[in-house]
Formats: sequence, C-alpha cells, structure tokens
Amino acid sequence: MNKTVLCLMAHPDDAEILCAGTLALLSAKGWKIAIATMTPGQAGSIELEPEEISAIRRVEAARSAAVLNASYHCMESEDVFIGYDKETLLAVIELFRELKPDLVITASPSDYMLDHELTSHLAQTACMAATIPNIQIPGTLPIEQVPHLYYADPIKGKDRFGHAVKADLLVDISPVIQIKEEMLCCHKSQREWLQHISGVDEFVLMMKAYSREKGAEAGVSYAEGFRQHLGFSYPQDNLLVAELESLVHFNPEKP
Ligand SMILES: [Zn+2]
Repeated sequence: MNKTVLCLMAHPDDAEILCAGTLALLSAKGWKIAIATMTPGQAGSIELEPEEISAIRRVEAARSAAVLNASYHCMESEDVFIGYDKETLLAVIELFRELKPDLVITASPSDYMLDHELTSHLAQTACMAATIPNIQIPGTLPIEQVPHLYYADPIKGKDRFGHAVKADLLVDISPVIQIKEEMLCCHKSQREWLQHISGVDEFVLMMKAYSREKGAEAGVSYAEGFRQHLGFSYPQDNLLVAELESLVHFNPEKP
C-alpha cells in the first residue's frame, strides 16, 4: 500500500514555502500526499472581508495541493487565534486518524510566530494521541503506529530571538524546484498582494532565495531543511532518508 505524508501547517502557503519540494519528491515516489492548514488565512488581505479572502484562499490551497494530486484539509481555526486546547486537538487527532499518515511534516516548534509554534505542538501531540484508544472520538479508530514526525524550518530560518534554527537534514529539491514554484504561485491572492506592495515578485523571490540558501549549506542548488522529532515513543529510524536516499544531506554544521 502507498505510504501517506500529512503536512500540517498553520496558514495557506506555509507548506509551499517550507516543504512543497519534499512533498513533490515523495509524490514522485508514489506517496499519497495530504496538505492541511489550521486556518483558511482570513487575515491575509487589507481589502477583502475575512470570509471573502478565506473562500479565495481555500480554493488556492486546494489548487496547489492538486498539483501533487494531494488532498487539502482546512481545520478552520483563525489566523492569530490558533489554540492549543481540547477542541482543536480533537479536530487534529480526528484528521490524523482519518488519514493514517506514515510521516508528518509540521511547522518548527521555535519560530517567530505563535500560530506556527502552536501548530507544531498540535501536530506533535496528535501523532501520539491518535494511537491512544482511550482518547475517544466517535467514528474514529486509533491509528496503529506513531507517525514519523519532522519539523520544517521556521519561516525565514529564525526563531523569536532572531537566532538561526539549523536543520539536521537538508533535502535536495533541485529536481522539483519548478513544481514548488508552481504550487506557491497557486496562492495568487498573496502573490499579487506582495507584488503590489513591493513592486517585485517578492513571493517567488523570497522562496527561491531561502531554498538557495539552504541548498548552499548542502552543496546543491535548492534545499529544504528539517529536524526529526526523536522523543520517547516516536519512531527513531529516519524515514525521509530511507525514501529519498542520496537527496537527503546531513547538515555538516550539526554534530
Ligand atoms: Zn504562516
């Protein structure tokens, strides 16, 4: 049976900026891809009302997911108000039980923004909680194994103190950089908005500059950085390396 990767991020376009290249590589290996966002990005406009921009961004996110034949799921939290609470966790655990991912990619637990950090915490807990029979959600069964969990780099590679967060693994996404760009460009409303305020195609330039920066660390053209969650009860073997083999480089700056 095909393996499944679930990418859970806070906002529409986070996945495309941080890990769409790796998702594209897994897709090429026959993996089923699911992309979920905690919010539909209701804060991402200065012209449109929250419901209007949310409707547009749900469609854009689904269109981007469709590039990889992926499913798209929105948890319907709100930008700035993502909570680490029972209701939100139950919704995330339910999604994990529905999709039964072998591998989960989420936001960095240290980032400049709490929406991203809380999403990371929700994913961490859901990986384990989805296996526990006494966490009961009607219509769902516990998943058999805790999925392999990876944290993508924080946006812009820095934590709240401005310190660089160094990835352990760098995935060479050079063969699929065009797919990553194509997916990012599905987020038309954000691209146009940034283009409008900066006068240049900032959205694509920023993504490419960061991917190039990570690529330089691995000695390749473009890369995405990850850290694996290796806490107690989580899988300890490196599934990304097992699947993507020589495309995964260990960060030479890390011990
Ligand atoms: Zn975000």
